[in-house]
Amino acid sequence: MFEPKGIITIDGPSGAGKSTISRGLAAKLHFTYLDTGAMYRAVGLALERQGIDLADTESLTQCLAAIELTLSPNGDEDVRVALNGEDVSQAIRTPEMGMVASRVSAHPLVREKLTALQRQLGEEGGIVAEGRDMGTVVFPKAFCKFFLNASAEERARRRQKQLAEKGQSVDYQEILDQISKRDYDDSMREHAPLKPAADAIIVDSSSMNPQAVIEYMLACIANPAP
Ligand code: C5P
Repeated sequence: MFEPKGIITIDGPSGAGKSTISRGLAAKLHFTYLDTGAMYRAVGLALERQGIDLADTESLTQCLAAIELTLSPNGDEDVRVALNGEDVSQAIRTPEMGMVASRVSAHPLVREKLTALQRQLGEEGGIVAEGRDMGTVVFPKAFCKFFLNASAEERARRRQKQLAEKGQSVDYQEILDQISKRDYDDSMREHAPLKPAADAIIVDSSSMNPQAVIEYMLACIANPAP
């Protein structure tokens, strides 16, 4: 059987299904799933709790140096995240924390810290890394790169359903507006903007279920482009 050992990257905008797909693909390949959005969310939470002004480089540097993140796989559920030993898995999974993560992730010092940590976690290979800049910046030599997209309306519908399953009731239009703003900010920022790597395979999941996307990706991985 074909056994890839390297790194597979899945980038794309919010709500495109990256988490479900990355987790499913990692399980099929016996790889580790690396949720880098969760890392930006946890750092956003830490900076917000401490009231750090991003323009205050000294405080930001000190605060970042003191942050320790631990990610633990959690079966079919979201990865568990510990921030300096405290389980923040639930606290980081709100639409508001998505917006906070997007804001802090534009700062080069935040990106520098998390890029280094992500590379360290990927050192031994065998990972499916999900985020915005996995194929472009963090793992440019990844074995296989995907860019997962879906229409903004479909992504908002999915996000609303996901939140409802967790007991959070959020208005569809509000989610659509947040998704559109986050996509715009993530794509337009100066450092590591959201965009497909030149060698990424673009997958539009608007009318595909997760199983079909995973099957398609497995076929691409087994038959890499020459
Ligand atoms: O994927 P998720 O919605 O959890 O990501 C939250 C935010 O973290 C994104 O909107 C993006 O601004 C930021 N992020 C990033 N680079 C990554 C992963 C996430 O800038 N690799």
